[in-house]
Amino acid sequence: MSDLSALALPHIAKLHAYTPGLQPTEPGWVKLNTNECPYPPSPRVAEALRREIGPDGASLRLYPNPRSTPLRAAVATLHGHGLREANVCIGNGSDDILNLLIRAFVTQEAAAGFTLPSYSLYPVLVEIQDGRMQTIEFDRSMQLPVERIAASTARAFFLTSPNAPTGVAFSNADLERVLASYRGLFVVDEAYAPFARENALPLLARHPNLVIVRTLSKAYALAGIRVGYALAAAGIIDLLDRVRDSYNVNRLSQVAAVAALEDPAYYDGVIAKIVATRDRAVAALGRRGWFTYPSQSNFIFTEPRNARGESGPAVSKSAYDFLFARKVLVRHFPSHALTAPFLRISVGTDAEMGVLSDTLDAWLQAPPPHAPQR
Ligand SMILES: *Cc1c(COP(=O)(O)O)cnc(C)c1O
Repeated sequence: MSDLSALALPHIAKLHAYTPGLQPTEPGWVKLNTNECPYPPSPRVAEALRREIGPDGASLRLYPNPRSTPLRAAVATLHGHGLREANVCIGNGSDDILNLLIRAFVTQEAAAGFTLPSYSLYPVLVEIQDGRMQTIEFDRSMQLPVERIAASTARAFFLTSPNAPTGVAFSNADLERVLASYRGLFVVDEAYAPFARENALPLLARHPNLVIVRTLSKAYALAGIRVGYALAAAGIIDLLDRVRDSYNVNRLSQVAAVAALEDPAYYDGVIAKIVATRDRAVAALGRRGWFTYPSQSNFIFTEPRNARGESGPAVSKSAYDFLFARKVLVRHFPSHALTAPFLRISVGTDAEMGVLSDTLDAWLQAPPPHAPQR
């Protein structure tokens, strides 16, 4: 057989994989491209990992707790709102949870709905499943198209709130207007909720078709350990447990996550610092005259203007390339008309945001590369 892809299922043979943000391996980058936390995790995490490994790593001989039971309990305790262990499923990152939801609920007959733009993993997961998609387009206001989502016939609808890559959050009042008529599974991906003023937790008890997805990758500074979770009615959690790998979360990740969740005071401080840096950076971009969506996340979505006051996809690309050449890494999403004129910038430390600002000043002063040479 010369073409091995012909052996694969047809929808897999034509699949386009998700493109993660660059993870440079050489030092010297100001890395503001994947919304990681610029501060380390709680010191309790490293302590818990050392304790679990012990002098010789003997515990690693043994499989982990298959249900991540102590971690489910820690999540339920953290959130309150009457949540119990039975309302929590732990994933190998929240991407694992999103995958389980699509595996359990989506086919050609039962579509997955989501907005455009939003998290670009959703369509990839649906394609892997050979499922059908229904998309609902935002307009430039980025206000939630409540009526259109409420009327969606999708079996499961995935809403990112605060949204990615815009950072715009949707109110519980709007979510409730959707939930008043939408009868499918309503999944709110709250990867950035710790940086927002409001979250959907208070709605869970009243809406059995609501699923909240969270991650420890952003606010908890633990992207490297891969832990995320779903909060939902016990009946939904039971379905996810049937389709997940039986040992989907390793031993070290489980203890690291428990240690992190048991140190809320540390994370309140980290989140307050990031929010303060974010709000200062948004104000500074405003003083440049750049339009920036109001962010309730740990990133900023801003529309660069060049020295001539122009904006657009070529201008944002020019700023991206200039920053990249000086080892400042941000994200540009050229494939959608609403995102192409913008850059997404993760909120770093104050020092990192200073480097970003100085490099943008240099970009504004640099002659455009396409200027005629004299
Ligand atoms: C980062 C992110 C995730 C993925 O989180 P992991 O737990 O690292 O898999 C999920 N959804 C959105 C919207 C994200 O931005």
